[in-house]
Amino acid sequence: MSVITTAYQAMQVDEPGAAFRLVEQEPVAPGPGHVRVIVEAVGICHSDAMFIDGHMPGLSFPLVPGHEIAGRIDAIGDDVGDFGVGQRVAIGWFGGNCGHCNPCRSGDAIHCIEMQIPGLSYPGGFAEEIVVPATALARIPEAFSAAEAAPMGCAGVTTFNALRRSVGRPGELVAVLGLGGLGHLGVQFASRLGFETVAIAVAPTRSRSRDSSAPTITSTTNPRTCRRRCSASLARRSCSRR
Ligand SMILES: [Zn+2]
Ligand SMILES: [Zn+2]
Repeated sequence: MSVITTAYQAMQVDEPGAAFRLVEQEPVAPGPGHVRVIVEAVGICHSDAMFIDGHMPGLSFPLVPGHEIAGRIDAIGDDVGDFGVGQRVAIGWFGGNCGHCNPCRSGDAIHCIEMQIPGLSYPGGFAEEIVVPATALARIPEAFSAAEAAPMGCAGVTTFNALRRSVGRPGELVAVLGLGGLGHLGVQFASRLGFETVAIAVAPTRSRSRDSSAPTITSTTNPRTCRRRCSASLARRSCSRR
C-alpha cells in the first residue's frame, strides 16, 4: 500500500506569529476513508497568514498551513472508493465533510457543520506529503499541471463561484478589483465566460494582462483617477449599447 517509509519534511509554525521551521515527520498511514497524497505543488493564500498568526478559531500549534494542494495519491485507507494509487488530485479549503449532518444530507457539503480545512483540522500542504479525507479530493485534468491545479482549490473556486452564482450573464460588464492571487484568476474566468472584463489595479504603472482577451486594465496609485477611469469604461460601454 505505502511506498514511503522514511521521514518527510514539512514547514511548521510552532506558535502564533513564529517563523516557519523545516521539520521532519514520520509518515502516517491513512485510516479509513482517508488517502495519503505526495504533494507536488501548494499555493500560498492570504488566509495562510491568518493561520500563522493564530487568527482563526480552533487553531492549535504547532501547525503546518497550506490549503491549495495538488499531488498524487500514494496510499489509500479502507473504505475509499473511486480513487487509486497514482491518481492526480487536488485539495483546497474544503478539506472534507462528514456526510451525515443536515447540510451534507441536503447536498450542501460546503456548509457541513463538521467541515474540515487543511492546516486547521489536520496538517496542511506545506509538506512533502499529507493525509486527507477522501471526501476532500478533486481529480485534476491531465491538461493541468500541479502548479496550475493547486490554487484552484481556494483562489480558483472562490472567483469562479462568484461569477457562476452572480446575476451577470455573458456580454455584461464585470470589474475585478485587484489583481492578486484571486483577482488574476477572476479576470481570466470572467473573460473566458464571455463577460466584458475590466481589471482594476492600484499600482504605479499602467499595464495589460497577458491574457489579451481581457480588454482593460486600469492601473493607478490615485484612487480618484482609478474611479474616473473606471467610470469612463462604464460610460463607453453604455454609449456603445445605445
Ligand atoms: Zn485560501
Ligand atoms: Zn456534514
